[in-house]
Amino acid sequence: MTTRGRLAPTPTGLLHVGHARTFATAARRAAGSLVLRLEDLDLARCQPEFAAAALEDLHWLGLDWQEGPDCGGPHAPYRQSERDSLYREAWQRLAASRAIYPSPHSRRDLATAATAPHPGPDGEPIFPPQLRPEDWPLPADPGGLPWRFRVPDGREVCFEDVRLGPVTRTAGVDFGDFVVWRRENLAAYELAVVVDDHLMGIDEVVRGEDLLTSTARQLLLYEALDWPPPRFFHAPLVVDAAGQRLAKRTGGLAIRELRQAGVVPAAILDGPLTELTEHVRQANR
Ligand code: GLU
Repeated sequence: MTTRGRLAPTPTGLLHVGHARTFATAARRAAGSLVLRLEDLDLARCQPEFAAAALEDLHWLGLDWQEGPDCGGPHAPYRQSERDSLYREAWQRLAASRAIYPSPHSRRDLATAATAPHPGPDGEPIFPPQLRPEDWPLPADPGGLPWRFRVPDGREVCFEDVRLGPVTRTAGVDFGDFVVWRRENLAAYELAVVVDDHLMGIDEVVRGEDLLTSTARQLLLYEALDWPPPRFFHAPLVVDAAGQRLAKRTGGLAIRELRQAGVVPAAILDGPLTELTEHVRQANR
């Protein structure tokens, strides 16, 4: 049996140890074919240097993919910025079936509304259901307004994670109506990723545990689009000795930095984190 997997870096910064480990897991688990897809939808934040650096770092780590921006293949293009028409087709189907609705409310409106959203368990505000429109005309194009997916309040979304076993998130409690189309007239992450994983024939999605609630949202999208979902493997997050998550914004260990400090790929992918931090400390002295 073959498993088609994917690596989906977002080129808004340099890849760090957490990415490397999640991607290595995806590469090891994919049997047969691995797709590399650049998640560069937000062109204002994504920079070509980061995309080039991501490909180079992945090659240096020894992760090889069979289809992607630098090796072609039957499912090109592999950049989300070039797949807009596919996301629009999905928007059209969801809007026609009324699974989504236009939602003019800005974050500021929400914060000041009498119905100010309360934070869910992940700390993310739950969109107030009172602000769902009763009725709305179906436009030819989503442009101009954000669109939200109307979640089935109280419904338990359950799935069997390959690593964690059964996972449940409750719609309307753990997460609320989420954005599928952005005000900038671009697909939002949740929609783009579902369309891509489906059309690219991905069998197993390997991603960080921080995306468990996103996976529940995406399962609702698969259902609304009448597509079978892939399997999900949520990888552990890389944390430091104090249990703090290493995130790129807080200066998580960039692969580049480790490489310059003389660290070898095997140590980045499987070695103890304390050694990696020590290398960087010594190199910066
Ligand atoms: N581009 C996303 C990231 O870098 C991938 C998320 C996913 O696996 O869907 O976090």
